[in-house]
Amino acid sequence: MDIAVIGTGYVGLVTGACLAEVGNRVTCIDIDEEKVATLKQGISPIYEAGLEELLRENISRSRLDFTTDYEEGLAGKDIVYIAVGTPQNDDGSADLTAVEAVCRSLSRHLTQDVIIVTKSTVPVGTNEYIKALIEENLEGDVTINIASNPEFLRQGSAVHDTFNGDRIVIGADSPEVLDVLETVNAGFNLPIVRTNLRSAEMIKYASNAFLATKISFINEMANLSERIGANIDDVSRGMGMDRRIGEAFLNAGIGYGGSCFPKDTRAIISVAQEASYDMQILENVVDSNERQRGIIVDKVMDRFQSIKGKKVAVLGLAFKPNTDDVREAPSISVIEKLLDEGAEVHTFDPAAMENARKVLPEGVHYTDSIEAAVKNAEIAIILTEWKEIKEFPIEKYESLMENPVVFDGRNCFTLAEVEKTGVEYHSIGRPSIG
Ligand code: NAD
Repeated sequence: MDIAVIGTGYVGLVTGACLAEVGNRVTCIDIDEEKVATLKQGISPIYEAGLEELLRENISRSRLDFTTDYEEGLAGKDIVYIAVGTPQNDDGSADLTAVEAVCRSLSRHLTQDVIIVTKSTVPVGTNEYIKALIEENLEGDVTINIASNPEFLRQGSAVHDTFNGDRIVIGADSPEVLDVLETVNAGFNLPIVRTNLRSAEMIKYASNAFLATKISFINEMANLSERIGANIDDVSRGMGMDRRIGEAFLNAGIGYGGSCFPKDTRAIISVAQEASYDMQILENVVDSNERQRGIIVDKVMDRFQSIKGKKVAVLGLAFKPNTDDVREAPSISVIEKLLDEGAEVHTFDPAAMENARKVLPEGVHYTDSIEAAVKNAEIAIILTEWKEIKEFPIEKYESLMENPVVFDGRNCFTLAEVEKTGVEYHSIGRPSIG
């Protein structure tokens, strides 16, 4: 098939590269000229395992190319995927500005019948709106079919997830359109869920909202465990062995972040409000997560009262391991609070420092290793469970810091290994040591 993918962010780029890998001819369109120039050279502007190899291989086989020109990108295409960002408005609803701009460009440049497939996460009813918007301004004599194909990849393992996900959801109100999409997706060898448009849109929001709820649930259990002498590691393990519950997403920590869970939970609340339904569980999840992001600094302040002038090492800036993404990362609000309290912040992240520099206030010291950040610090705070941070031996904190005090927001170490050292250790939902 000849496919265009609009938007080359985490979702669009991975989608484009993977659709090329399974044998389609794909052109990716983006308005960001710098990004397109980089991509044309086979260089990935984002950090994602295996992606650059896919880009290079498929560019060299002439199955994948990139352009900023809609006319060129859409020529001869049977299917057009929309994968631009849908951030949140101040009121929590989804901001569809980029999707609307894409629709206007499609109206101007489509010259043959196409199926438009929405990958972006959009509120229920948006696909119908997209179709109406494109048709309203359509210049050529073409037929538009519309489908929803929400994305479930996880940043950090996006390529792997595309080939090994749990399911592919395709939603359309026409069986013929569903048949075409089933054929396109056959190469991924995953179970396919066929639904109508609105159910597909809803599956995405409901799935993310459920996962956010599961995280907040275990975080609340962790906070209570701390107060009553239970250990959340054991609680999670004991709960997760129940197959009705499942062990995934039961790691207590300092809250979820990233470009999806925060905005998607707020967006579904907003969809519910428009439908005059009070989404009580999710309103509490959003509040609970907000509180959870603050607890690591609360713990620091309880322990030290003042951190003015103290060197604080902050390890991990990305919202989760294996990504360079800092969108809605807990590290941002944590570092802002530490700076407000007068701390001298020295930080290290294996991939996200460049992105963090763009959003963090002046005055943060970026270092080139865990050692450099931790050396002579009075306090070390772990915010992201990167492999290198988890594997950095706890004894090293003892040798690098004079009076080592570690606040672990991701429970990277077992209490048994910490107990063998002289490190004072505070984590989430477990007794403190020292
Ligand atoms: P992103 O911000 O990384 O990328 C969006 C891209 O779209 C950018 O490269 C931007 O330049 C481009 N763009 C903006 N306007 C454009 C236009 N008019 N024409 C062409 N290109 C344009 O976004 P993302 O993280 O890839 O997310 C895309 C969508 O997928 C969102 O709706 C998001 O909620 C959803 N989603 C994201 C993830 C994830 O893990 N990131 C997972 C599942 C679903």
